[in-house]
Formats: sequence, C-alpha cells, structure tokens
Amino acid sequence: MTYSSAAPPSPDGSLDPDDWTALRAQGHRMLDDMFDYLGTLRERPVWQAAPAEVRAGFHAPLPRAPSSLEAAHDRFMRDILPYAVGNAHPGFMGWVHGGGTAIGMLAETLAAGLNANLGGRNQVPVEVERQITRWMRELFGFPETASGLFVTGTSMANLVGVLVARAAAMGRAVRRAGVAAQETRLVAYTSACAHNCIAQAMDITGLGSDALRLIPVDDEFRMDVSALRAAIAADRRAGLRPFLIAGTAGTVDVGAVDPLDALAEVAADEGLWFHVDGAFGALAMLSPALAPLLAGIERADSIAFDFHKWGQVPYDAGFILVRDAETHRAAFDASVAYLSRETRGMAADSPWPCDYGPDLSRGFRALKTWFTLTVYGADRLGAAIARTCEVARHLARRVRAEPELELLAPVALNIVCFRYRPAGNAGDGDRLNADIVLAVQESGIAAPSTTRVHGKLAIRAAIVNHRTSAADVDRLCDAVLRIGAGLATVSEREPHPIP
Ligand SMILES: *Cc1c(COP(=O)(O)O)cnc(C)c1O
Repeated sequence: MTYSSAAPPSPDGSLDPDDWTALRAQGHRMLDDMFDYLGTLRERPVWQAAPAEVRAGFHAPLPRAPSSLEAAHDRFMRDILPYAVGNAHPGFMGWVHGGGTAIGMLAETLAAGLNANLGGRNQVPVEVERQITRWMRELFGFPETASGLFVTGTSMANLVGVLVARAAAMGRAVRRAGVAAQETRLVAYTSACAHNCIAQAMDITGLGSDALRLIPVDDEFRMDVSALRAAIAADRRAGLRPFLIAGTAGTVDVGAVDPLDALAEVAADEGLWFHVDGAFGALAMLSPALAPLLAGIERADSIAFDFHKWGQVPYDAGFILVRDAETHRAAFDASVAYLSRETRGMAADSPWPCDYGPDLSRGFRALKTWFTLTVYGADRLGAAIARTCEVARHLARRVRAEPELELLAPVALNIVCFRYRPAGNAGDGDRLNADIVLAVQESGIAAPSTTRVHGKLAIRAAIVNHRTSAADVDRLCDAVLRIGAGLATVSEREPHPIP
C-alpha cells in the first residue's frame, strides 16, 4: 500500500491525511532508508558531482497539483541523497563539519512533529533549552547568572557576542542612537588566524571590519599577547576605544588555541570584553584529557560554539553562552505589546529566548542537543572528540614518515595541514597540491580541502566526524601519494608554465 497525497483531500480541508495507516507505512520506509544510509556509509563515495540532469530536475515550475509522498521520497533517494557534501561519511575531512548521529536524526524528527516555536512563552521546550544552558554553565565553569541561546551557528553566535560586547561598552543607548552617533570609535582585537565571521560581525554591527585589529600569531598560530597589548596601547593613544578581545579556541585552518588565560588577563587589565570563538574547539571541554588545553576559557565573558561540529548534533545547532544574563538581555530585549508578559498563563515564564537574540520564531534545536547529551552522555562524546585528535596525530605521524609528504603546521587538536613534495620536483607545488585535493575529492575515497599555511597551499584534513578512524586517514594518505605520484609524472613531462 502506498500513501498518495493525490488522493481526495480530507473532508475538513486540512493538510492531514485521511488515511494515517498508509502514511505511517510510508513514514517507516523513509526512516528505514535513512538507517540504511547511515549504516552503509562506507559503501558509498564520500562525495560525487551531481549529473547535469539531476540539477536540471530542480528547475521545475511551481507544482500546482499534488503528487504522492512516495514519489517525492523516491526522488529524494535518487536525486538528493547521493549528491550531498558527504559530511556524514567517515572519509569527509575537508572542512570542520560534524558527522551527525542517528539519535540526533530521530530527535529532529520528534521536534519537527511537535513543531514548537521556541521564541518564548510558558512551555517545557523552553525549559529544555535552559537545561542546555545550565549544562553549559557547568561545563565551562560559568556562574548561575549566565545565559545561553541556540542560534544557527557560530557565525551568528559571534555576531551576538559582538552585539553584547557593544551593549556592555556603550549601554542600551547605543541601540537607539546607533554607532554612527558615537564620538569615539570602538575597536576590537582578534588573531590573524581568526575566522572571517568575526570581521563580518564587526561589519554587520556597523562597527566596521576596519575596527578589528588582526593581531599576529606565534609559531604555533596563537595570538601574540605582547603584540595585542601594544595594539591596544596604540589605539588608546590614537583616541580610539578598545572594547573587545575575541580569542579563538581551535582555529579553522590549523586548530590552534589562543593563550586564553593570558587573553583573559589582558581583558581584565584593560577593562575589555573577552569573547571566545570556540566554534568546534570549545567542546574539547567534554574530554578531561583535552580540557586543560582550553585553560582560561572559564574567564570569558561570552563563548560562541557549535553543537553541530564536535558535538555531532545534526545541523544546525550553534550556541552562545554569556556570563551575565542581564548584559546579554540589554543587547536584545524589547517591550512590545504583542510580546507582553504575565505571571501566569501562557505569557508567563519570562525572560524568553527572544530576549537574548535577534530571532523571534525559533525551532527546537535544544531537543536534538538534549537527546545527544542524554543518550550518549558527556563522557562518551568527550571520548569521541579525543579520538578525532588521536586520528589526527596518527595522520601527522604518517605524514612525517612518508618522504614525499611534509607537515606544514603543528597538530594542536584535530586538524592536519600537509603537502605533497615529490623529490626533485621544481614545479609549482601549489598547483600540484590543489590538483591532488581535487582529484582525491573526485575519487570519492576521501574529502580533504585546501588552505594556506605560511603562504603555501596545504592539504587540510580536519577530523571532526566521530566515524573517522585511523584506517580512513591512511586511505587519504595512500590516495594523496598515488595521485600525487601520477600528477607529478605528468607535470614533469608537460611542465606547468611558470607564471
Ligand atoms: C566553523 C567555524 C566558524 C563558523 O561557524 P558556523 O557554525 O559555520 O557558522 C567560526 N569560527 C570557527 C573557528 C569555526 O571553525
């Protein structure tokens, strides 16, 4: 029996089916297909380019008439599922993407069924989000006064962090007057290796990305603290107003952790807001072995991070934790009649999530996070995080052992940057390494990416997925060596023109 929404509409005119039995059977098939997908990931290529016909299929006109759920599901299995970026696959190492879990998928299904709107009001789903905040206070050693909020990702969480820091520096008045009305310009500090979304946050808030100082890094790609102090002093002399230091716990290129304790010290001395971009790295706190690397994070005024990266929660699940809820609210709360509060009934239980960020309607991201933390437990998630670092160290050892490979940066956490360097090849190493990465991606064996380290193009493997094992990074290495040898021979015969 198949479920067909092309069947006569239900007599009450709603979108619910007449026949729940058929829908139920089809729903179970859909769920089974996803269990099969997750259970057989290794049998698939990590990634494959979509044929032009498949893309062309998504240029269809708006469908006016219904069609069956079964047909839409078949279409998903045939034309969508095989052509995703592949971050659930253990061979995916290209970017800092989490792998997700079946538990997270099931929780997301429950959340979608409930269809709760987490903007606010008197409901337990909001309490579940507060439970996550309470757990994160505990994890990061934050006080009872700390607030937390789910957002899309760390890009948004960093933006919220900058807005709260701005409110802390200028008070609520800045929200009405705007930054243009300020006499002294606010300036912020981050490392030269920080994620670009911090500059983007400065841009979006109207503070301007020019007002973000990119402080140089040391040999291990960590912010140079004396350069930071010097930059703050120079800005003060120039009549500017330093207000924010944004440290990074786990840089996107090489996984470096800024000296957070020293940054906290500078922020305290100078009276600045101390924000930490811990997009993936902050959850290293779940591993007792890794947590000491983040010493000083407990002194932050705000921490931005993602449950969807190292936390393995399905996309999207970004989070911002702020030490002082009142300052947090000062950046966002508003009094408008349609959001008025009561002490009982459905408008009770204030403050609400919408008082802590720009979103009013919000989904139930907290549920998949609650399920993930509850079902696996913090220790097991921490162990999975620690294992990705072990796998990265295994890859680094392999790179050091292979004469054709060269390690380009120290491996602080889970990211390995290396390069193929054939003996006696004087050609353009950057082009060769870029071509190797493209060919490995197209082979479907593994999905590395590229970045630049000390000006050199690097093959970058970020081990974030809990499924990735030592054997998977060995397969990546083997593929790089094999493809590299092939390409290097070709380029000896037909050398790339030197620009
Ligand atoms: C991934 C990442 C971001 C951006 O987070 P999104 O969740 O993709 O918005 C910011 N900073 C760092 C260090 C990251 O790794």
